[in-house]
Amino acid sequence: MGRLETERKELIEMLRSKGITDELVLTAMSKIERHLFVDKMHLNRAYEDSALPIGSQQTISQPYTVAFMTQALKLNKDMKVLEIGTGSGYQASVLAMMGCRVFTIERHLSLLNSARKMFESQNLMVASKGGDGTVGWSEHAPYDAIIVTAGAPHVPETLVNQLKDGGRLAIPVGDRESQELVIGTKINGKLETMIVEGFKFVPLIGKNGWN
Ligand code: SAM
Repeated sequence: MGRLETERKELIEMLRSKGITDELVLTAMSKIERHLFVDKMHLNRAYEDSALPIGSQQTISQPYTVAFMTQALKLNKDMKVLEIGTGSGYQASVLAMMGCRVFTIERHLSLLNSARKMFESQNLMVASKGGDGTVGWSEHAPYDAIIVTAGAPHVPETLVNQLKDGGRLAIPVGDRESQELVIGTKINGKLETMIVEGFKFVPLIGKNGWN
């Protein structure tokens, strides 16, 4: 077994030890090679539990954050998931590897183009588009789940409207420096939420985000 594969296995064990139990999430994260999504200069750090730069002043999220948010969505194969903030394409690839039907939006077209190449090279079916994800992607709504991978000033109502009843939303909300993770379930048209502290994201910029 190569060094990177060993490191990936160790990362999965670390996620288990930190309370990630969803086998669908863990299996997908053990298959998606995170080192392919980071700059070559950060190759040695690809399986550290940290966010890393991916260009355009953006980051690939920390593996624990990816695992925690994905687990919080309680996903099954074939569920329709919208991701706001494609970034490197790592999170979307994990979702696609889980068997979900993935739609993802990114405002930086250079990042989107690299992410599309990653989807292609891994043979993963992911629908993607460039633009402001804070308005969602109404053509494919409603979604079983929506995951926002950048920090918002508030929960955009538009995204709640594009969730199915019973659908789940994971979104970091706070100020520009620190956020708490809001995990919501849409029940009878309203979002019932719980809050988890201790996450940090780049800002969500757009009509229903930051200026
Ligand atoms: N999910 C990504 C991954 O797996 O690499 C990490 C995403 S990074 C933490 C957040 C991303 O959200 C950035 O790429 C940023 O450009 C993007 N973003 C910020 N505001 C956005 C918006 N309104 N619409 C779409 N993408 C946005």
